[in-house]
Amino acid sequence: SMGKWIGKTAVVTGASSGIGAAVAEKLVENGLTVVGLARRKERIEELSKQLEGKRGKLYAYRTDVTKEEDILKAFRWTKDNVGPINILVNNAGIARVTSLIDGNYKLWKEVFDTNVLGLCTTTREAVRDMRANNVDGHIIHINSIGGYSIPHIPYLSVYPPSKHALTALTETLRRELNSIGSKIKISSISPGYTATEMLEAAIKGSGLSRCPELEEALKKLPSLQAKDVADSVLYALATPPHVQVHNLIIKPIGEP
Ligand code: NDP
Repeated sequence: SMGKWIGKTAVVTGASSGIGAAVAEKLVENGLTVVGLARRKERIEELSKQLEGKRGKLYAYRTDVTKEEDILKAFRWTKDNVGPINILVNNAGIARVTSLIDGNYKLWKEVFDTNVLGLCTTTREAVRDMRANNVDGHIIHINSIGGYSIPHIPYLSVYPPSKHALTALTETLRRELNSIGSKIKISSISPGYTATEMLEAAIKGSGLSRCPELEEALKKLPSLQAKDVADSVLYALATPPHVQVHNLIIKPIGEP
């Protein structure tokens, strides 16, 4: 049950929109204190206002997960102002519209810096905090079906490879934690196409106003809602101490 987490602290990266915002909301409803990290801090603050009166509380801390110093500051702030971290939800992630055979180095780097290196850094800081305080810890990675296969969607280029890297590093992390006898749980939630601002952000972040081929390809796909993914996060968190969800692949009905 989620009861064991009441009053505990969760850090959620990318809490300013989509899946991260839905996860933050559900954690607050379940009585957790949540620190939401993102560049658009004001978006998290708006959500926090909407959640006033719920059992838990949402704080916002401006963080660019591609900057190590930002992450260190965010974790220091959490430690000093909120308390020991029990849960980390590594959700911040981006796609960019480019190719491999004729692509843009800056866009490739942005995807790997955000989806892989940012996540390595938040994970390291959370594990340090959890070990120092000897708490029950649970780290959730928002992976993707793109972490296990290559979707037939044009211009995704390095996005599925970045999620494949996440798949590999999740298992490396599990081995490292096992080798030191840690009971920190690691779970991946791997959704299919989900209706969020991700596509829009990918187009804009690539310096484009439109990408008709990509928009057409995604228009044909059935989609999940962000809250569906958040429900899977809660399922993984609610398992008893001896159970560890390794990976939940969830897709909208109709997606093969
Ligand atoms: P959104 O674009 O709605 O949300 C992305 C979130 O990541 C935002 O809150 C954004 O915050 C944050 N983010 C991006 N870059 C940074 C950064 N440098 N520093 C801090 N935060 C950052 O997309 P989704 O909700 O769809 O995406 C969330 C996760 O779900 C991603 O990891 C994505 O790969 C994964 N996913 C999405 C699927 C989909 O179809 N939508 C399917 C499978 C997985 P801000 O811009 O304010 O910094």
